[in-house]
Amino acid sequence: MGKALIIGAGGVASVVAHKCCQNPDVFEEIMIASRTKSKCDALKEKLDGGETKVSTAQVDADKVGELVELINGFKPDIVINVALPYQDLTIMDACLETKTDYLDTANYEPPDTAKFEYKWQWAYRDKFKDAGITAVLGCGFDPGVTGVFSAYAQKHEFDEINYIDILDCNGGDHGYPFATNFNPEINIREVSANGSYWEDGKWVETKPMEIKREYDFAQVGKKDMYLLHHEELESLGQNIKGIKRIRFFMTFGESYLTHLKCLEDVGMTSIEPIMYEGREIVPLQFLKAVLPDPATLGPRTVGKTNIGCIFIGKKDGKDKTYYLYNVCDHQECYKEVGSQAVSYTTGVPAMIGAKLVLEGKWKKPGVFNVEEFDPDPFMDELNKQGLPWIEDFDPVLVD
Ligand code: NDP
Repeated sequence: MGKALIIGAGGVASVVAHKCCQNPDVFEEIMIASRTKSKCDALKEKLDGGETKVSTAQVDADKVGELVELINGFKPDIVINVALPYQDLTIMDACLETKTDYLDTANYEPPDTAKFEYKWQWAYRDKFKDAGITAVLGCGFDPGVTGVFSAYAQKHEFDEINYIDILDCNGGDHGYPFATNFNPEINIREVSANGSYWEDGKWVETKPMEIKREYDFAQVGKKDMYLLHHEELESLGQNIKGIKRIRFFMTFGESYLTHLKCLEDVGMTSIEPIMYEGREIVPLQFLKAVLPDPATLGPRTVGKTNIGCIFIGKKDGKDKTYYLYNVCDHQECYKEVGSQAVSYTTGVPAMIGAKLVLEGKWKKPGVFNVEEFDPDPFMDELNKQGLPWIEDFDPVLVD
C-alpha cells in the first residue's frame, strides 16, 4: 500500500519498525533514518526480513534541507517522527515543502526551555490544510491512546464527560538503582517540572510531585502516583465537551525519586550550559550519557504497565463512571520485538496511526490531535496489534 519514513533509531523507533514489518500489506517499504546511521543499520539487522523492504539513511533532522532531500529521494507517503521533540518543527517544515503526511508522539519543546505545549505545532494548522496534507500529533500511548480512549468514551459511553483522570503506572523493575524508561533528558525534564492540571478552563499549577495518591492497579498492585503536567491535558481540555477537570498521574518508586532529588540538588538535572574544562556542557545531557540507555533495558525489565483513563460524566441524565485501560507485560514485549513495554506502548500506537493515515481512515488536511479522529478503527487495531483494552464500569476513583 505505501511507504513510511521513520525518523529516529531509539527505543520507540525500534518498535515502530518491527510493527510496520508485521503489517507488510500496509507498509510495503520503510526507511529508518537517524543522526547515527550505525544505529539504523543495527536496527535493520534485528528486523526479521519479512516482506517489508527496509532501507536506512543518515539525517540530521534539525536541518530542513537535509530532510527535504531525503524525503524527495525516498518519496514516503508518511513521515513517522520518533526522534526527539526538538525536531518536530523542522520535520513538519520538510513535510510541508514535500507535501508529505506527518505523525509524531511528543509535542514540540524548545531545547533551551523545559516547556512543552502545542502552540508551536497548532500554528501549522492552516499551512497543512492548504497543502492538503495530514499531521497527527501525539500518537504514542500518553499522549495518544489516552486521547483515543477519551474520544471513544465520548462517542459511545457518555453524553457529557466532566472529569478525566489519566493514570500511568509502570510496575516494571529493571534492576538498576536509577534509569529512565525512555529518553532520560526528555523524561527528567518532564518529571522535574512543576505539575499542573486543567480545571474550569484554566491551568492550576503545583510544585513538582506535590500531589501524591495511592492506587491499586489491576494486575500490578498498589503504587504511589504523583500528579504531573502532561501534554494531552492541553488538547483534551479543548476537544472534550463539558470537561471540568483533567489530571494526569504517573507512578514512581522510592528509589527513582530519591535519586532524582539528589541529582537535582547537586545540579545534574539543569539544562543551563556550564563550562567544564574549557568546553560548554549541559549537565542534563551529560547525565543522559552516564545513565543506562533505555533501549538496553528490554532484557532485564520484568513486570507490567497499566495505563488508562477514568472518566466521570453523564449518560441519559444519570451519573456514570468508566475506566478504560491497557495492561502490558515488559517480558512479553521483549519476546515479541526486543523492547520493554514503555517503548512498546509508544511504538505500537504510532504504527497504528500511520497505518490509518495510509488506509485513508485518518486522513484529512490539517493538524490534528488524535481525539479529533474517529476512535473506532484505532480501538480495533489496538486489540489486533498487541495492546488490547479493558473496560471497568465501576472503577475505584481517585480523590
Ligand atoms: P531515544 O533517545 O531512544 O531515541 C531518539 C532517537 O532520535 C535517537 O536515535 C537519536 O539519534 C535520534 N535523534 C535525536 N536527534 C536527532 C536529530 N537531530 N536528527 C536525527 N535523529 C535524531 O528516544 P525514545 O525512542 O525513547 O523516544 C522517542 C520519542 O518518543 C521522544 O520524542 C519521546 O518523547 C517520545 N515518547 C512518547 C511517549 C508517548 O507515550 N507519547 C512515551 C515515550 C516516549 P542518536 O542515536 O544519534 O542520538
